[in-house]
Amino acid sequence: MVNLRLTVIRFHHVALLFLLWPFLLTASPASVANWTVHAQPTRLVNGAPVLFQIKPPTRLESLNGTWIGHELTFSFDAKTKAWYALGGVSLEITPGTYPLELAGETVAGKLPSQNISFSRKFIVTKGKYPKIEVKLSVESKFTEPSPEQQKQIQEGQEIKKDYLSRVTPEREWSGKFAEPAVAAISDVFGSQRIFNGKTSSPHLGLDFRVPSGTPVEAMNDGTVLLARPLYFEGNFVVLDHGQGLLTLYLHLSEFKVKEGDHVKRGQVIGLSGGTGRATGPHLHVAVRWQGTYLDPAKLMQLALP
Ligand SMILES: [Zn+2]
Repeated sequence: MVNLRLTVIRFHHVALLFLLWPFLLTASPASVANWTVHAQPTRLVNGAPVLFQIKPPTRLESLNGTWIGHELTFSFDAKTKAWYALGGVSLEITPGTYPLELAGETVAGKLPSQNISFSRKFIVTKGKYPKIEVKLSVESKFTEPSPEQQKQIQEGQEIKKDYLSRVTPEREWSGKFAEPAVAAISDVFGSQRIFNGKTSSPHLGLDFRVPSGTPVEAMNDGTVLLARPLYFEGNFVVLDHGQGLLTLYLHLSEFKVKEGDHVKRGQVIGLSGGTGRATGPHLHVAVRWQGTYLDPAKLMQLALP
């Protein structure tokens, strides 16, 4: 009898909770209810860029996120009334489930500004990258550099370490990322290559088969972060598109921009060539996000606001 009474009481409590549930939801702070979080593409793989689209439950002053050890700064798009951040999953990330942690600051009105947060998990699966072994032969100055050449390599590495890790939080990119040249693809992102019989690290860019002197266009709006010759990269242009996203253009024969210039998507930034460690004239384009390389082809497929 006692047991039965207890059961009845428990049942009543549960029933009460169900009845009150809608009120509990509306009464709870805005932090839990009504966040919509979307990722594009919907299937995330290692090596791919990702666009996060967030609709918070209330108007926000600012929105930040944490994603696999990276900080995301979201920007508000008035047209779609959503917050956007472009990020990625580096090639080295093992498949698994990773949370996107969001932290926002509400707009002060009747109530003072408030900090709200939300978390959503995403599944990352293994990206498919070709295991084609491309046999390449480059000059010995790239495989066995002299002390003087080693010094130049060192300088190049220091410049890259300094510049390529810079993050401009504000978004400068706008709309889709465009092809930097209209040409056939000669090597894709993530492929394994062999230099003079030695397996090198995976190919971290996209190669366009273009003859020397072909105009190379900015993939999106941005600021010229680097425009100078480096040992391996040759004549090298790096554009900063904001939110930690950079595009890199290698082996150019000529520069058409200088560091600090603002460029628009489609603007000619240089002419293609075969400077630096290149087996012949071609355009190597890379996408870098907060210290990690992402697949440029996948970036160009994203429909961006
Ligand atoms: Zn390449």
